[in-house]
Amino acid sequence: MNTSTSQNLFEKAQHYIPGGVNSPVRAFRAVGGTPIFIKSAKGAYVYDEDGNEYIELINSWGPMILGHANELIQQAVSDAIQHSFSFGAPTRKEVEMAELIVSMVPSIEKVRMVNSGTEATMSAIRVARGFTGRDKIIKFEGCYHGHGDSFLIAAGSGAATFGTPDSPGVTKGVAHDTLTAPFNDLAAVQQLVDANKEQIAALILEPVVGNMGCVLPAEGFLAGLRRICDEEGTVLILDEVMTGFRLAKGGAQERFGITPDLTTLGKIIGGGMPVGAYGGRAEIMNWVSPAGPVYQAGTLSGNPIAMAAGLTMLNYLNEHPEVYSQLENSGNKLVTGFKNSQEKLGLNYTLNHIGSMYTLFFTDQPVTDLSSAKSSDLVLFGKYFHAMLNRGIYMGPSQFEAMFLSTALTDDHLNKIIQANEDSLKEIQ
Ligand code: PLP
Repeated sequence: MNTSTSQNLFEKAQHYIPGGVNSPVRAFRAVGGTPIFIKSAKGAYVYDEDGNEYIELINSWGPMILGHANELIQQAVSDAIQHSFSFGAPTRKEVEMAELIVSMVPSIEKVRMVNSGTEATMSAIRVARGFTGRDKIIKFEGCYHGHGDSFLIAAGSGAATFGTPDSPGVTKGVAHDTLTAPFNDLAAVQQLVDANKEQIAALILEPVVGNMGCVLPAEGFLAGLRRICDEEGTVLILDEVMTGFRLAKGGAQERFGITPDLTTLGKIIGGGMPVGAYGGRAEIMNWVSPAGPVYQAGTLSGNPIAMAAGLTMLNYLNEHPEVYSQLENSGNKLVTGFKNSQEKLGLNYTLNHIGSMYTLFFTDQPVTDLSSAKSSDLVLFGKYFHAMLNRGIYMGPSQFEAMFLSTALTDDHLNKIIQANEDSLKEIQ
């Protein structure tokens, strides 16, 4: 496969952009080699600068749930740009967007639009702190909530009590207020809460984790967190930036029957444009400025082009429940195919899966938290990644990522992925 144009672009990019990319995982550091530079995409395919074609399993890290260059969204954006690009003033589309989100996600009574998932989570903990008058938050090891300072906190037993910065630039003061627990460990959460009585403003988690690879909540875990938050007066924030509008119309909270106080959204909500949102109980959201004293703002928030794309996406999902049964069937078909191949090859790698998200972990341990995810053979993953790429399958370039299916994948595409997976596993053993 010729990727010389991508290689040349990457060389040039490194002169002008830190690490050559605008978001770290894109640089292929975890798997080695040169990132491919994407020129265009349509439906289930992306095309690189050298004209190579790949079947999509990244889908822009989740947003492209209907596949690339969806014609309805293209038309909506094309219509919207006729009226200019940004006003910095209220618009009809923002009201329609808020009304639609509230109708699709019943726990959300009021919602504020922002420009990214990072902004959504940063703002959600700020309002939770304002509302409760408390400073500390609990997050889970291996959960990613964007790059806000409060969330870049190392995992580990020491960090579980006081927190330490994971990234230079995060102050000790900020780290001190983020407590961490292992995912799926209710007892650890209870201990943190007991040791920090009336100090914990919010508990935030990905209800299904995508960011240590795909990791599912154990039976009773989400309900247990809801109970602890109720007992402690702590705001429960479900970060559904990945899972929102993906695992069900109403997100993971609908699928698992859990009602958070606040929800953060991103990715699909923008139809591929830069959009995030946070929302929840009116009693809490009324603390947000100008209804209340917690400040949060944005020049481009509720941008009309982004709203046109997002509103078209959400309306489509709202009116086409068959999207979710199709994604469910596609996920099941893929996973069944992968399992059959493993059986044939005598392999026993852990395959975590729910709906249209999955991760194949190169370990035979069950993966339920960050430490079990880390038992994966990362060198083997790197080989697998490149074996798949060479067979025209474009996956997330890290073991600690989930793959995202779209409705553009037909049975034929799924069969190709299953075959490529089997051939790749055979090649790398
Ligand atoms: N929360 C979750 C669960 C995410 O997966 C991400 C990004 O991948 C974010 C928040 C941050 O969103 P963004 O990259 O739009 O800032």
